[in-house]
Amino acid sequence: MDFYRILEKAEAGVFPDEAEIAMLLDPPDQTAQQALFEAAYRVKSGICGRVVNLRGLIEFSNVCTRDCLYCGIRKSNHRVSRYTMSADEIVAAASLAGEFGYGSVVLQSGERSDEKFVDFVEEVLYRIGQLPCDLGVTLSCGEETLETYLR
Ligand code: SF4
Repeated sequence: MDFYRILEKAEAGVFPDEAEIAMLLDPPDQTAQQALFEAAYRVKSGICGRVVNLRGLIEFSNVCTRDCLYCGIRKSNHRVSRYTMSADEIVAAASLAGEFGYGSVVLQSGERSDEKFVDFVEEVLYRIGQLPCDLGVTLSCGEETLETYLR
């Protein structure tokens, strides 16, 4: 199947298979690449409109219990100076994002799943929920249990 047929199918909402994704990621020439960009723009503006949504990233801790080899903050990298922001600091940063009109924030840290950490994140989320702005929150704190996500 050729590039343009795959592109047309994808734009129509038919999810491409692995081989088709590989073809879309490697347009045969500049015209095809431009067609890909234009199709992506039509899909994006059709779903999200012609607006830019701002999202604040709050990297609140670089402490991690995992050891992924590619990662600079893996636990066995002892050259890293570790930090964790206080709940007040995180809430203040989220509040500022709300004042600036951001639609959402990401709270990101290394992976921890101990009770103290989960309590801490829960408290922070509760306090952000009390702010006088409508701020969405995405968590990026590693893999957690279903109970934790429910909390
Ligand atoms: S779990 Fe995330 S933060 Fe931790 S070492 Fe792996 S990639 Fe890095």
